Formats: sequence, structure tokens, C-alpha cells
Amino acid sequence: MNCPSCGEPMLVIGGRFTCLTCGWVTTVDPTVLAEALFCTDLQPLDYPNGSGVRFATSDTLTELGEAECSARLAQAAGDHPEATAERMVWALFTVRWAFAPARV
Ligand SMILES: [Zn+2]
Repeated sequence: MNCPSCGEPMLVIGGRFTCLTCGWVTTVDPTVLAEALFCTDLQPLDYPNGSGVRFATSDTLTELGEAECSARLAQAAGDHPEATAERMVWALFTVRWAFAPARV
């Protein structure tokens, strides 16, 4: 995801997107993060670690943007409702764990 203030790519630090260029810090809604994680290639059986999840999620959010992640989720939900629901449960749980400030 890019900085809303200066447009530079932001880093995830302590569960927040932080811009090292201008200092903008924003907390991202876990649902948005889960949608981005949903769109990554990560699988529950990969047992990704916290930083793996954070990198994949923020890369995907930067690359696709929030709207595209939501659109892909909606598309998947239409095509495979059950598998999509299962993956979203995993994604929500995983982002809450991976982006929890205490784990950084
Ligand atoms: Zn900035």
C-alpha cells in the first residue's frame, strides 16, 4: 500500500502501515488485510510465519489495491462460496495474529 500523503510505499511496522518518507502512520482495518491475504498465494498448509504473512499481505495490497482485493474476494465467493468462506476465516485469523503489535 502506498502512503496517502506522499505516495511512497509504506512498510508494516507493529501492525501499522508506516511511511518512512513522511512519517504517516495508519492502522489498516483487519478486514482489508484479510482480503489482501485472501488474494495472495499463501495457503494455510504452508504454515506461513508472521513476517511471511505481513510481507505477502502488504505486497498484495500495494500491488492490487483495496478495491481489487475486494473484487477478487467477491468473485471467488460467487464461484466457490464454501471454499471462499473457509479461506476468509483463515485469513482473518491469520492477519489478526500476524499483525498483532505484540508479536513485532
Ligand atoms: Zn509518506
